[in-house]
This record gives sequence, structure tokens and C-alpha cells, in this order.
Amino acid sequence: MNSPATPAPRATTRRKRGEGQWALGYTEPLNKNEQSKKDDNPLNVRARIINIYSKRGFDSIDPADLRGRFRWMGLYTQRAPGFDGGKTATLEEEELDDRFFMMRVRSDGALLSADALRALGRVGTEFARDTADVTDRENIQYHWIRVEDVPTIWEILDEAGLDTLEACGDSPRPFLGSPVAGVAEEEIIDGTSALEEIKRRYLGDPAFSNFPRKFKTALTGHPGHDVSPETNDVSFVGTVHPEHGPGFDLWVGGGLSTNPMLAHKLGVWIPLDEVPDVWEGVASIFRDYGYRRLRSKARLKFLLADWGKEKFREVLETEYLKRELVSTPSPEVPVRPADHIGVHRQKDGKFYIGLAPTVGRVSGTILTALGDLVEEYGAAGARLTAYQKIVVLGVDADQVEAFLDAAAAIGLDGRPSNWRQNTMACTGIEFCKLAIVDTKDRGRDLIASLEQRVPDLDVPITVNINGCPNACARTQVADFGLKGQLVLDEHGEQVEGFQVHLGGATGLHANFGRKLRAHKVTSAGLDDYITAVVTAYLDEREPDESFATWVVR
Ligand code: SF4
Repeated sequence: MNSPATPAPRATTRRKRGEGQWALGYTEPLNKNEQSKKDDNPLNVRARIINIYSKRGFDSIDPADLRGRFRWMGLYTQRAPGFDGGKTATLEEEELDDRFFMMRVRSDGALLSADALRALGRVGTEFARDTADVTDRENIQYHWIRVEDVPTIWEILDEAGLDTLEACGDSPRPFLGSPVAGVAEEEIIDGTSALEEIKRRYLGDPAFSNFPRKFKTALTGHPGHDVSPETNDVSFVGTVHPEHGPGFDLWVGGGLSTNPMLAHKLGVWIPLDEVPDVWEGVASIFRDYGYRRLRSKARLKFLLADWGKEKFREVLETEYLKRELVSTPSPEVPVRPADHIGVHRQKDGKFYIGLAPTVGRVSGTILTALGDLVEEYGAAGARLTAYQKIVVLGVDADQVEAFLDAAAAIGLDGRPSNWRQNTMACTGIEFCKLAIVDTKDRGRDLIASLEQRVPDLDVPITVNINGCPNACARTQVADFGLKGQLVLDEHGEQVEGFQVHLGGATGLHANFGRKLRAHKVTSAGLDDYITAVVTAYLDEREPDESFATWVVR
């Protein structure tokens, strides 16, 4: 599904040396990350955290565990306070490390009960200085975690059926599932059982714990393609085969960051009960044939760019599945992906309600309060979304208005403005060691300003704010994709700012935003810039002309 305007990673077919592919015999580690994984399976760090590090404290942690294997347990050191992104000082890697951790809890598209929400809230309030963010990988991410507290946190999460296992690292990262699986009236197929089975079979399995790099999975049976399937390494997308009925279309090789690529459709139809086997096949190709020599070329998209989708399908069928897959026509693609914000009728007559925290920021207090609301209103529970939002399921018709008011009172808006609904922000300089600029506070202020300055929008316009080129908040596929970097202000001074990518999208018009050299903006000037561009669009557009179309006029 690469559009003509999509820059694909450069082909490397005339490679002079090996790329570190295990299947071709390159088993000697070619960089320090590969060496570290060979020295000890990263999954083993769990026992050391429980038995040694949590008892002896931060200074007892082996550096190879601290900066490597801890990630397989969903733990990164957070940014040391005071480091300014290199503006006035360049610090060594060790000096960037705070003595506290970011911790990611994976939800994998599961329904979070009232008790699970309260458990997540308790971790935030008791162990994370009341921090908690909803990430665009359907995680809850905490900050200020001490290694001494990790075993207790794991016990609390485990009782609620939650975990941090392989939430980071070169592993099966958290799965994106449809937030409305099983309840949406328009659903093609409910993929919940397949995601649960993939998790049961492969999460924590040493055979799938050492990929060349991260491996991202998405699965949805909703026609609104609500899990950003274009940007995942492997995606299963609901479709109806003309003869075989509902199942999943298989997309592979999506990924953003540098050398972004939209996922390619392999043109095969996968029945629900075969999804886990096919996931294993794709994951195995990545493990065995993925490039391990350079970290910058280690994502699946580089292999796919070199092989092409025909060879990828052939290897999947002949070497891994040992059978031919059923070909399928391309599924219909929605004009825009569904984010499920607002009130929607379920197939059982109840309602689901999509709530918008501001740029994904919640807190332990809010999660606990949400758990209490879910119980008080007899709702089924909540799911997280790929857009840093929360959907509460199973609200009775006569409770909807009261629930909306109660959710708004705890900071979760079910009737948000365009800007609150469609703005995301990554972690940014507050906690992320790779960040160049602030994102979350910038996003909050930007939303407040745009709600005043451009209050009446009749089309959705998305803003994705990223603190560096890594595109954790999907820089390239937003109307305004913002990549954090230092820019020059009007006095020629280097200040925080953004390179703008204009007019990107997923869905029917999936494409990367245009990176215009002139469109660099200081953080302080961001709301002026967006106001000016959107106002020009509203003034100049033809009837039904989208923002992305207007941008390339
Ligand atoms: Fe950190 Fe960059 Fe990712 Fe933002 S995009 S969370 S700054 S690595």
C-alpha cells in the first residue's frame, strides 16, 4: 500500500557484506546490542530485578541490564533533571540517566475492569508521583519509578491481569487491538481471541525475545481501521473474503521514525483461528532474516523493501507456514481512521463512549476515579486507544449523559473540541532521554490556545507532536506532524522548535506529510503558525476539499 509519494527505504540488494541475518549464517554479534542479547537472554533480568536490584538499590544494577535488558521488562531510565537536550552541554549517556524509571504497562487491547483501572491508579499514586500517560500503543506509562518498588508494582499489576513484560526492547512490543472489539455495530470480525492467543503463546517465549529490533503488532476487525495498521510491522485488518467470509487482510513492514514506510498488503486472507500461526511466521521471518548489523536498518521495513512483498509472501508460505495462503482482494479503506471519541451505540443496545484526556496525560488519581465511575455506572470496563484516548464500554442508554458529565469532572472529555480530540504528544523532554523539545506541556497549551483562536472547525485536523525524529507520536501521518528540533528564532538564536510535516494521513489517503524546508517553527510560535495555516485553508478550500489535498495544491 505504498503510495507513489511514499519514500521507501533505499534498497540494498548489492550489499557487499552481510547484514547480520541469522538465517544466512551471521550469528556472531555485530554490534553491542546484539552482543548484550547473546550474553544473556534479556528475559532473565526479571529475576535479577526481584532478587538483587530491588533489594540492593539502583547502584547495584549491572550497566548492561540498566541500559539494555531492563527494557524487556518495560523499564527505561528516565531523563536526568536539568539536562537541556544538548543546548548548553553535551552529557555522556550515563549522565543522562536519572535514578528513576519510566515503566510501561501493556494493555494489548484488553478490556480493563474497574478493579484493573483502580490497580493502575494505585501504582500511579503510590509509586509514580501520581503520573500516568495513555500512550499511542495502548499502554499506561509511569514515571518516577524506583527499582526498589518494581516487585511490589508487578504484584499489584499481576493481580489485575496486567504486566510490563516485553513492553519495550527488541521484542513483541505491546499489541494494538480495536478498542471496540466485540461491541461495535459495524464490526466485521472480533479479533480478541487471536490477540489473546498470540499473547499466551509468544509473550515471554525466549524463541521470540530476540528480534533485530522492536516488532509492533496491530489487529482490528473494525472497518474504521482504528489501530493505525499502516504503521505497524505486522497488522491484521478485518475484511470479508467473497467466498470465505470474514477474516483478516495481512499487512507487513510499516514503520515511521527515519526512513518511514507504510505497511504493504500481502494480498492474503487469514481466518481468525490461523492468525496466531501467521503472526508466528512473520515474526520468525523478522527474527531469522532481519538485519542485525546496523540498528538503523534493523526494522522489518528494510527487509521488505529489499525483498518486495511477493518474495515475503513466498518465504512465509514455503519456509514457515508450509502451505499456500488464500489470496484476497484489497479491503475497503476508510477515508479517515475511527478514533471512537464521543457516544456510539453498541450492537447490544448499550453505548460506548470515547473520552479524550489532553495529549494522553492522565494520572493515578484519574485512573482510580475512572475505575470508580465504571463500577458506579455498571459499565463493562475501558480500553485504551492508538490515539492516546480511552473508550468506556457498556454504558446503559439512560446513563450516558450522566456518565459524560461525571467523566468530564475528572478531566476526561467525551465531547472534546477538534484540537483536544485530534492532538497527540509523545513523552518529550520532560522524561525522555532522546528528546530535544518539550511536547506534553506544549501540546496542552497549544490545545487551549487553538480552542480560543480556531474554535469552529467542520473537518478534523490532526496535530502530532514529537520531541525528536523518532516519531513515537507518528510525525509523518498527521495534518500537522511536528518533529522536535532546535531552530533559529528571529534573533538568530537556537531555540526549541519543530520541523513541520504538512498534510500526512492514514486511511484512504494514507501518505506522509510534506516536509517543507521553510516550515520550521519555534515552539513559542507554534499556535500562531497553526492558526495561520488553518485559517488559510478554511478561507481558500473548495467544497469538500480536505486539508491534505489543499496542502499539495
Ligand atoms: Fe522520546 Fe523522541 Fe519518542 Fe518523543 S519521539 S518519546 S522524544 S524518542
